[in-house]
Amino acid sequence: EERTKDAELKSEELQAAKESLEEKARELLQSSKYKSEFLANMSHELRTPLNSILLLSEMMTDDPNHGLNEEQIEFAKVIHSSGQDLLNLINDILDLSKVEVGKLDIHFEEVNINEFAERLNRHFMPFAKQKNLEFTVNVRENAPHSVFTDEQRLQQIIKNLLSNAFKFTEKGSVSVSVEEAKRQEYLELSLGKEADTWLKVVVADTGIGIPEEKHEEIFEAFQQVDGATMRKYGGTGLGLSITKEFAYLLGGVCKVQSREGAGSSFTLLVPSLPEGLSELEEIRVKE
Ligand code: ADP
Repeated sequence: EERTKDAELKSEELQAAKESLEEKARELLQSSKYKSEFLANMSHELRTPLNSILLLSEMMTDDPNHGLNEEQIEFAKVIHSSGQDLLNLINDILDLSKVEVGKLDIHFEEVNINEFAERLNRHFMPFAKQKNLEFTVNVRENAPHSVFTDEQRLQQIIKNLLSNAFKFTEKGSVSVSVEEAKRQEYLELSLGKEADTWLKVVVADTGIGIPEEKHEEIFEAFQQVDGATMRKYGGTGLGLSITKEFAYLLGGVCKVQSREGAGSSFTLLVPSLPEGLSELEEIRVKE
């Protein structure tokens, strides 16, 4: 009899512990939601005055009739480029907090892959020329003609990856390869079903590379390999966490392969067929 009493007591204790944990989890979730909502609102309010700063400082550098001397024009340029940095940061924070409160709109549509690649090529060629790097966007023969996804988010992902590639590469090349993922690749990641087709985009560079132990960290917000105290490269440390979240929203995943000093390659896998997407959407709704 004593034993049953003991067992009852134990199970009551366990139940109480479980309830208190659940309560804690709810509180945490709620406060994290408040935080994200606050960030989303703040970011929005910050953008309005910042836009005036950007517009006016640009006008000051543009128009020779403002009567500014050379030094003043230089100052106006610094104001403008610092303002631009701040705007980028705010936009990144806004995107991330929108993801967290589930307010990021995604619109699936048919995206033509050749046109998509051509736009990337045009946008990034000037960066390549500026740094004297070879740059290629290669749409492979097996690449799907078009995919069904959110074009804007897909572009943001690849642009984040490419901006990093150009930032962290001083000589050699940056390349983008677009192809259909092999069955095994997405099965390995337990993504989707056998019948799905997946788009694979690989952004590779011959830059400084990323040490193995940082491969997970860099996808977290505000994490940079060179750390806050010895920051050599600009940036917010938010690009890759946005990339990771967006990849997930599109039903896919982004992963890295890299070694310190030996370049990096980031692979994005996203479903390319509507059938695949509709199944994933169902899963999301259930969650
Ligand atoms: P940011 O580039 O603004 O610092 P990211 O989240 O895009 O933020 O990247 C986080 C960090 O990951 C970078 O600061 C850098 O240390 C590392 N990293 C990302 N891409 C590359 C790359 N192609 N080559 C080397 N390091 C990279």
